[in-house]
Amino acid sequence: MATSVTLQKVVKRYGALEVIHGVDLQITPGEFVVFVGPSGCGKSTLLRMIAGLEPISGGDLLIDGKRMNEVPAAKRGIAMVFQSYALYPHMTVYKNLAFGLETAGMKKKDIEPRVERAADILQIKPLLGRKPKALSGGQRQRVAIGRAIVREPDIFLFDEPLSNLDAELRVQMRVEIAKLHQSLGNTMIYVTHDQVEAMTMADTIVVLKGGYIEQVGAPLDLYNNPRNKFVAGFIGSPR
Ligand code: ADP
Ligand code: MG
Repeated sequence: MATSVTLQKVVKRYGALEVIHGVDLQITPGEFVVFVGPSGCGKSTLLRMIAGLEPISGGDLLIDGKRMNEVPAAKRGIAMVFQSYALYPHMTVYKNLAFGLETAGMKKKDIEPRVERAADILQIKPLLGRKPKALSGGQRQRVAIGRAIVREPDIFLFDEPLSNLDAELRVQMRVEIAKLHQSLGNTMIYVTHDQVEAMTMADTIVVLKGGYIEQVGAPLDLYNNPRNKFVAGFIGSPR
């Protein structure tokens, strides 16, 4: 199922310090949106507010048109994949995928097909019996994505999921995440500070700077018509 996400004048303050200054954004169902911008511009903070991991200080977050500001993370239909994908070292891959569902009270017979399906999509079926230490970096990242898939969320959020991988693997995983989006059709929001990732993966790029949105558009739009030098520099367009 694909779901819309709407930010209306969203503000975030940490104590007296305001770090997100009233962001408006409309994400349509099934869109693959990439947040780009330099370190500290507020990418993770925005994502964490959408996920419900950080309270919103001002404005509104709507998911499928419903106001979500006070809805707990577990009830938002969102799964998030992080940069540091801490897998449980003492559990097999199968157990790593199943664990969240078990603690949520799901029955074994319902868990099994979900884990199988996720393992199938990510091509990690032969690894289900292994422990994380017997996996490569790319395989571990697949398991981390698998933990999000088994929850069958409406929305996937990715916070720089590939930044710990080497260049070759990053390219490979980029393609796999794009395929995942094609096959599942979910709304996905993907944070990166990597221009190439943004240009190659996004339906829509949101360029952030200092807690504001500088520009929103399709990759080629931004490339051909950057609003200012900052966007041009960040997107890598010649102007
Ligand atoms: P990005 O993910 O784009 O690198 P962040 O969203 O992590 O940026 O951070 C945005 C701003 O908010 C930064 O100035 C950062 O220092 C500040 N910030 C993030 N988390 C906290 C926190 N828990 N307490 C205080 N300031 C924070
Ligand atoms: Mg961040």
